[in-house]
Amino acid sequence: MNQQPVVGIVGGGVSGLATAYYLRQRLPTARIHLWEASSRLGGALYTQWIDGYCVEGGADMFITNVPWAVELCRRLDVELVGTNPEHRGAFVVHRGRVVPIPEGFAVMMPTRLWPLLTTPLLSWRGKLRLLAEPLVPPRWDRRDESLADFAVRRMGREAFEHLVQPLVAGIYAADARRLSMQAALGRFVQMERRYGSLGAAWWHSRTGPSRSRANGSGSGARYGLFVAPRQGMEQLVHRLAEQLPQDAIHRQSPVAEVKRCGTGWRVLYQNGNQATPTAAEVDALVLAVPAHRAAGLLRYHDAELAGLLERIPYGSAAVVCFAVRLEQLPEPPRGFGFVVPEVEQRQVLAVSFSSVKFPHRAPPGGLLVRVFIGGDRLQPLLELSDERLQQIAWDEVSQLCGWSAKPLWHRVFRWPRAMAQYHVGHLELVRQIRHRLHAQPRLALVGNAYDGVGVPFCIRGAQQAAAQLAQELAAAPK
Ligand SMILES: Cc1cc2nc3c(=O)[nH]c(=O)nc-3n(C[C@H](O)[C@H](O)[C@H](O)COP(=O)(O)OP(=O)(O)OC[C@H]3O[C@@H](n4cnc5c(N)ncnc54)[C@H](O)[C@@H]3O)c2cc1C
Repeated sequence: MNQQPVVGIVGGGVSGLATAYYLRQRLPTARIHLWEASSRLGGALYTQWIDGYCVEGGADMFITNVPWAVELCRRLDVELVGTNPEHRGAFVVHRGRVVPIPEGFAVMMPTRLWPLLTTPLLSWRGKLRLLAEPLVPPRWDRRDESLADFAVRRMGREAFEHLVQPLVAGIYAADARRLSMQAALGRFVQMERRYGSLGAAWWHSRTGPSRSRANGSGSGARYGLFVAPRQGMEQLVHRLAEQLPQDAIHRQSPVAEVKRCGTGWRVLYQNGNQATPTAAEVDALVLAVPAHRAAGLLRYHDAELAGLLERIPYGSAAVVCFAVRLEQLPEPPRGFGFVVPEVEQRQVLAVSFSSVKFPHRAPPGGLLVRVFIGGDRLQPLLELSDERLQQIAWDEVSQLCGWSAKPLWHRVFRWPRAMAQYHVGHLELVRQIRHRLHAQPRLALVGNAYDGVGVPFCIRGAQQAAAQLAQELAAAPK
């Protein structure tokens, strides 16, 4: 192997930085160049500290039932905090009111009977239909289907519209009629296949030999499973960047095109304000950018691969954050936030009481509120100015919560084409992309477009890309 291979990484979000980290673990002598288009590293991990509030503009926590993010934080000495065990419940908007999600209802699974029987969210007909889920025969064929088709088939339309759709939209910002069950919520497909119904799977998990422990009390998005870095999500970005030599990172250096050059790659990037692009030659290349950007970079080199990447759709979103003084509210919020079903036809997708979820995120006496605007139906709102967007967000929250207070400040964060949408057939599309990628040695694709949208999955992708490239560089001397 070339004693000092050069590896290029395009994109300075968590995927690109984590790839650089794992590459240096595997190939300590490798020289790394990481090109980031903007002046800031981190991509969708973006923390701002404002008057003692820890404001997350993008991702605000990650799941711990998969190991990759937790392990990386541990290695880098990033302190993690769990969600507040008090007030772990969540709410859903129903006929203009904010109503608790039945205790024990997690994403798709009712696990407790009484809260379900007494919830005002469903009519008696809707409750009976949901309780009949174990009687619905499973679908045995292996075709993918949408979340809407799966949930309506198994649980009935009411449970889908008032519980499942808003909970899943709050996580994926996706259209439930197009979201792939197999790619986004494959564990429920497996449960149906293995046990015949979700009810039977739940019963087995309680009584079978591999009894799973409950995720703590609560309802909604299984909040007991989530953690966040105490100093903000961006702390992980800083720690990763600190591991690299300073001259490895090129900020404000958007890459315009990549081309094959011998067995390696030639990267054309904009260097600061220079008029003509600069060229760099690398032995291996990682594209850690959204799939539509990777498609743009590869379009002249491999039109087929670019075409496949272009087929992964992306949604845009905005996050509006406010601070309010608790003393100005009729009562402090008692849950982590609420989600808004599409059938309610409102202008926000989800509202999170960030500092109830993570108390260290607000100074004493303050409340941090995060409003999420995204999903297909709300895309036109994203054209509005920051002022209009924050007005809409605040009007919705104050009306639904019955608040008359004025926010102390607000911030709007915009995420254009940042959220990969796993539509029906996504797994097959990714299989085709991987197949085509085999024709391009020493090239890896990393990011939220492929095997999971959350931060831990981006980190797993980074590990895999580093392992693959280290092996390829070791196997084929230059
Ligand atoms: C609003 C929002 C909320 C989210 N909430 C959560 C959450 O709570 N939990 C969770 O686990 N996940 C969440 N996610 C998903 C998660 O944050 C992302 O999947 C993850 O951060 C993506 O990281 P990435 O590095 O792959 O891509 P990105 O963060 O998009 O980074 C890509 C980087 O590449 C750069 N770039 C693009 N093109 C070029 C180019 N041509 N040349 C050089 N650089 C380029 C960009 O500037 C950017 O910095 C959320 C995402 C969003 C948008």
